[in-house]
Amino acid sequence: MNSPAQTNLLGLARPELEAFVAQLGSKPFRARQLMNWMYKRGQGSFESMTDLARDFRAQLAERAAIRTPEIVSLHKSADGTCKWVLRADSSQAFEMVFIPEPDRGTLCISSQVGCALDCSFCSTAQQGFNRNLTTAEIVGQVWLAKRELAEFGESRQPVGDHRIVTNVVLMGMGEPLANFRNVVPALRILLDDYGFDLSRRRVTLSTSGLVPQIYKLAEETNVALAVSLHAPDDELRNELVPINRKHPIAELLEACWHYIDEQNGRSVTFEYVMLDGVNDSPAQARALAQLLRGHPAKVNLIPFNPFPGTRYKRSPLPVIQRFRDELIQRGVLATVRRTRGDDIDAACGQLAGRVIDRTTARLGNKVFGLAVQS
Ligand code: SAH
Repeated sequence: MNSPAQTNLLGLARPELEAFVAQLGSKPFRARQLMNWMYKRGQGSFESMTDLARDFRAQLAERAAIRTPEIVSLHKSADGTCKWVLRADSSQAFEMVFIPEPDRGTLCISSQVGCALDCSFCSTAQQGFNRNLTTAEIVGQVWLAKRELAEFGESRQPVGDHRIVTNVVLMGMGEPLANFRNVVPALRILLDDYGFDLSRRRVTLSTSGLVPQIYKLAEETNVALAVSLHAPDDELRNELVPINRKHPIAELLEACWHYIDEQNGRSVTFEYVMLDGVNDSPAQARALAQLLRGHPAKVNLIPFNPFPGTRYKRSPLPVIQRFRDELIQRGVLATVRRTRGDDIDAACGQLAGRVIDRTTARLGNKVFGLAVQS
């Protein structure tokens, strides 16, 4: 058993890990050795880290731990998508999804249990906000997925066809920028050469539009940015994404262009959920093109996934295609996100974050968005 006094090393970015090993009287390079064991080789036991001095290993066993969230259940889709329900604590669970494709494997991870932002088409809003995930719980999802996919070279059976996590998207439960303090170190570990060593273009943070935090993010990291836009005008966006009342579209777009300038990035991906008769008309496509044309932007149209109690319906496919074509004709890159894993409730808007102990909390639905583009 791990005692609470043990520091979970999965929660420490390299400078913090170096400070931790310094406290134990060791040199900074020990932190890099440790990271190599943890993130490259997937080693969860200090005892097996054979190039570390015996005394140091004993110290680590006493003072530190490598703890991931616990798996409650695994669900496999006919299309190869895998969904894991993970335990946050005794009463709450959250989920992560792995989407295998011929050319990549995308892991969709959560940053919070529940969400406080109350977007009207998102079932997470119904559940409300429970808590932020810790850095270790965020990083632990990637570690766990790689282990489950047998990417660390263990002998276990891989659970998907494509075994490698090549891309990580923070598009699961929660608003990552509302958990800035824990998300930023997690991003550092994802990108660190001694960590998961992912390229910045293969890590995407999706936000509903917390403008001040987008500026802050530009100072801290350079991952790819996705923004849940969903409407071409403030009146409609106020209704769909209520944070818009505080940070309207013009301010949000300024922040996006600033992010791209600062980071020398390619473009911002704007997510746009297709809601029948609400935001899917050709005129709205033209208004959207007007906003984005000439800027480093691309649009990802997400067919709405209904959930019990919602007043919205999914736009018909021809309407979605027409909307995409209107954008493309006006020089705005646009793709339609493919629905994956819907037979196991793993598609955008279908994931139900289970409440393990139903006596203390009511059953809530939580929503995932999956970064699958076609
Ligand atoms: N809170 C962040 C991260 C979530 S990403 C954000 O808002 O960006 C999940 C994506 O799926 C978001 O673009 C979200 O707006 C979208 N989404 C939410 N509910 C959906 C639903 N029912 N159907 C399709 N997409 C949905």
